[in-house]
This record gives sequence, C-alpha cells and structure tokens, in this order.
Amino acid sequence: MLRGEIISPGVVEGILHLLTQAAFVPPRRATVLPGEEKNEVERFRQHVDSLVEDFQATVKRLESASLSAEAEIVRSHILILQDPELHSRVETSILQAQLAAEAAVEHALEEIIYLFEESENAVLSERAPDLRDLGMHLQRKLGYNQAPPLSSLPADDSGIVVANVELLPSFVLEALAADVRGFIVEKGTALSHAAILAKSFGLPVLRIPRVDLLRRHEGTRVLVDARQGELLIDPDPEEVTHRTTKLRTLRDQALSSRLSPTVARLWLSIVDPMQLKDVDWTGIEGVGLYRTEMLFIHDHQRWPSEEEQTRLYRKAFEYGGTRLITIRTLDIGADKPLPYLSFGPQDNPALGLRAHRLYRFHPEIAITQIRAILRAASGTHRLRLLFPMLECVEEWHAVQELVHQATASLRVDGIPFQEQFEQGVLIETPSAVWDFPRFLNVVDFASVGTNDLVQYLFAVDRNNANVARAYRPAHPVVLKVLRELADQARQAGKPLSVCGEIAGEAWFIPLLIGLGITDLSVPVPRSQETLIQLAQLQASECRELAQKCLIADTVSEVRTRLGRQDPATQVKESGSERPGEAVDPVCKMTVHTVGNPLAVTQGDMRYYFCSSRCMDLFLHR
Ligand code: PEP
Ligand code: MG
Repeated sequence: MLRGEIISPGVVEGILHLLTQAAFVPPRRATVLPGEEKNEVERFRQHVDSLVEDFQATVKRLESASLSAEAEIVRSHILILQDPELHSRVETSILQAQLAAEAAVEHALEEIIYLFEESENAVLSERAPDLRDLGMHLQRKLGYNQAPPLSSLPADDSGIVVANVELLPSFVLEALAADVRGFIVEKGTALSHAAILAKSFGLPVLRIPRVDLLRRHEGTRVLVDARQGELLIDPDPEEVTHRTTKLRTLRDQALSSRLSPTVARLWLSIVDPMQLKDVDWTGIEGVGLYRTEMLFIHDHQRWPSEEEQTRLYRKAFEYGGTRLITIRTLDIGADKPLPYLSFGPQDNPALGLRAHRLYRFHPEIAITQIRAILRAASGTHRLRLLFPMLECVEEWHAVQELVHQATASLRVDGIPFQEQFEQGVLIETPSAVWDFPRFLNVVDFASVGTNDLVQYLFAVDRNNANVARAYRPAHPVVLKVLRELADQARQAGKPLSVCGEIAGEAWFIPLLIGLGITDLSVPVPRSQETLIQLAQLQASECRELAQKCLIADTVSEVRTRLGRQDPATQVKESGSERPGEAVDPVCKMTVHTVGNPLAVTQGDMRYYFCSSRCMDLFLHR
C-alpha cells in the first residue's frame, strides 16, 4: 500500500498502466530546408486550425452535458491557440531560423511558459500546465503519431493510468473517451484546471511522490482509494468490496438517520452555479459560499456586464430553489489578480489592494455586482449577501452605502429585485476577530474564512510551499479564536459558519463542532462524506475533544490528539511541488526549476538546488 495526496476524490479498482513522458511527445524534426519555410508556416496554421476544430467539438460535447465551467477551460485553450503572440513567435522562428514547426512550437511555448511560471501573477503561473498540455496536442498534430496516448491502452480493460507527468486537462478529457477509471500522477495540485475537471467527472486522482516505483506493477490490479489517500496493489477482493461499498452504505445509513438532528448544518461552497446541477439536496441547507471571482477571472478580458452577471447568479437560485444562497461579493486581488486590471505598485499583494479595498477606487464594480445579485434573487428566492475581508465595522458601513446605492438605482430604473435579504461578514483578519462583537450588532450572519484568517493570524503566505509549516490551522491559537467567535455569535443569536478549507477536512470537523461551530460550508465533492460524518458524530464527544485540544501547547499536540501525523513528516512525504518547482534534495527547500542554473542530472532524475553549497554537499555526499 502506498500513500498519496488526493487530487480528486473517489474509490476505484482497475489494472495499472504506466505512461511515460515519451508516450506523450512524438519524434520531432528540427529544421526545414531553405525555400520550405512558407510551406512550413502553412502546415503550422493548418494544424492549429484542425486542433481548434477538435477543441470546438469538445466544447460542444461538454456544453451539451451542461458542463459549462469545463467547456470554458477548453475554450480558453482555443484562445491561446489563436493568440497572435504565439503565432508571431512560431512563424518568426520558422521564417528566420528555418526551424521546423514542431521545434518552433516547442521553442515559443517554452518561452511563454517560462514567463508564466516566473510571473508573480498566480493566475498566470497556474496556467503554465495548460500551455504544456497545448504544446503536446500541437506536437501530436504536427508529428506522425496522431493517436492520443490513452487510446493506446488495451481496449478490454478499464485502466488506472499512471503518468510521470502532471495531470493535464486533456488527459482527463481523453480519459473519458478511453474508459480510464482513475489516475496516479506525480505532480499537480488539487487547484489545477485538470483537477477541477477530474472532480466534475468523478474521476479519482491520487498524487504519489515517485511513480517510477510502480513500474514493476504494470498490469497488476490495484485499488485507488482517493478518499483515504491510499493506493492498494493487488488488494484482497474483500477489501475492495469493503472500500467501494462503504461510502454508499454509510450514506444510506446517514440519510435514514436524518430525522434525528445532526451536530451541524451543512452548506455547499461553489465557484460556479453549474456545480449545483446534479446536487442531491437531502440534508443540505443551501449554498454557504458562492465565490464569484471565476466569471471575472476566466471568462473575460473585461468586466462582465450586469446582464451577464444576473444571468449567471440566477442559475444558482434556480438550482437552489428556495434554499438560502450565500453570494460573496468580489474578492479580487492578492492571489486572485485580474488580467485586465492593474493593481498598481504592490510589494506585498496579500496586504494590498484586494476585495472591498478595491471598491473604494471602483465603487461602480461593487454596485453593478450587487445590482446583478439582487436582480437574480428577485421573486421567491432567498439571498444572503456576504462581504469578504472587512477588517472592522467602519468598512461594513462603507459597503452598506454601496448596497444602498444599488437598491436606490434599481428602484429609479424600475427593475424588479429582491428587497428582503440577509447580509453578513466574512471574518478573515485578526482585526475583524477583535471587532466581532461590534459586527454582531449590525450583521444578520457571519462566516469565518479560515484560509485567510490563518494566513493573517500567523503572517504566513497561504500559497508559499517554503513556509507551509508555519501555516497552522490546527494551532491552539486558531482554536481559541474559533471558540471565541462561536461563543459570541451564539450569545448574540446570530448564525456563524466556517467556510475555509478546514470545514471540509474530515479530521478537523469533530474539533470545529466541539468548538461550537454549528454551520459548515464545504466543496460539493466533499458534501456527501461530510454529511455521513456529521450524522455519526456525538456533540459531547466533540466537546471533550475540543477541550483537550484547547489546552494543548503546540500544533503537534493538537494533531496527535486528532490522530494526525505531524506536519513535518507530511511535508517530506508529499512531494507537493507545483509546475516549475522542485525540492532541493539537501535542505528540502522548494526552489525554481526554470532559469535555475544550480541543477544536476543523475540517471533519469534532475535535481535543483537553492545554492552552490547544497549542490556541493549533494555531489560529494
Ligand atoms: C477563506 O479565506 O477561508 C475563504 C473562504 O475565502 P478564499 O479562500 O476565497 O480567500
Ligand atoms: Mg478568503
């Protein structure tokens, strides 16, 4: 049994097949003969057109399955393929350096990927794998081997595919066609586009540190348990039955015991209303957090109009029926920049212009969004409007002025909108914690954004691998803060939820309940298991556990009491590098790969270092 990180949850059994990097890239020609350049440019254009057609067919397929967010990912690939900058780089290399189209594409994409990976802009650096994926598609079109790698799998067994490259969106789409049941990969994060796709299609994906170790198990039956984070090689059939049926049985039991009150209410966190399409609402209160940034980040090179926003938000209400839908106003900035907006000079984006701080310069953005939300909720729908990052009550009054302007202007325009709605604050900063008693005098409800709250409590970047150990959601300090917030909300009679990632972490949930948290908002794929867990928990046991953890001195004491490994061990095991990153084998610091001259190749492994000191120690070890 091997342990791995869950990129997309699920449990599945199948035959193990290894795909190596070589399977993805056909042999390439490097140059063209003099005089052939123009034909080569033409060949490049034809293949781009043909690839665009393939992608357009995929977009149609996804849209007819109502997978609009997924279709949008593929549509963004079409935009990259048609990008004039890419064309000009490739065509210049062909015409001026007589590079063959294959080599010119590789060269151009390498440069663009380098720029993306080096970019401070998190959205751009997350897009680097998409570019690599496109590069592979183009290479395949241009080369002789046109068959997608997954179609080379034996037709009669649905496989578990092991790839020593990172999970890419195209693998997931090809997987659907090739009846692949699950993936084992070496790289990639649960936040990547590919992971979003895999989750939408229910395709389990595990990331394990050294997939080459699986080579000797090629053709063996395995069980991917991407609920427990385990890969079982040649598992006992009883174990397989147990693990694959456990979820279904537990869910049925949980639903049948639904009449007895559970220890907390469950809500869904979404980024796109389409995620609500197939939701089974049994036992679920409504939407606890709709992060609205996706429309602004992915779908546009410009601000979306009020009409577009209204149409999209209305879908959430349509899918939710009369359930409460909590919509968060735009939290743009920091790790969510916008390609079409300059945030000005910022040495420290996480402490800079983000969320409502931007509304001060562009109130019309917030007013338009609030108008769209209120319009979308008109009729019998139930809306909760949630404001992110408010640091103190003064900021509450500032956003109330925007709400007032939105409602007043809708009345003047004679447009129907929802007049009855609740308003709440997302507690994400230490100052908001201290101002919580005053917030409780004005809000209808509150939610704790623990992802940011932990970042700001410990002054530690939530996205930086080298300080990941200082990011401590289970620290007694955080627990005390949460208990304090829960006590104050209860005394004020106002609902308080937790909507950060820890709300969906099975190991953390009993602790949250014990601290007095009554509402959890979790991502859709986590909802069924969380529902089962909540039906099984006893409030008194949770309170006892919380008491023990609150008096702990350190985060590792808390983790031990929760039956978790110490994070130090976890970091080493996880191999959690992102594209363009590697772990220095000597000091274990995450370092850049692109543009890093401190690199050594040994066998088929390439190692990168933070300094010549580590490199020397490695070479002379
Ligand atoms: C949070 O910070 O916990 C949160 C819910 O907001 P986001 O992760 O979108 O910043
Ligand atoms: Mg946040």
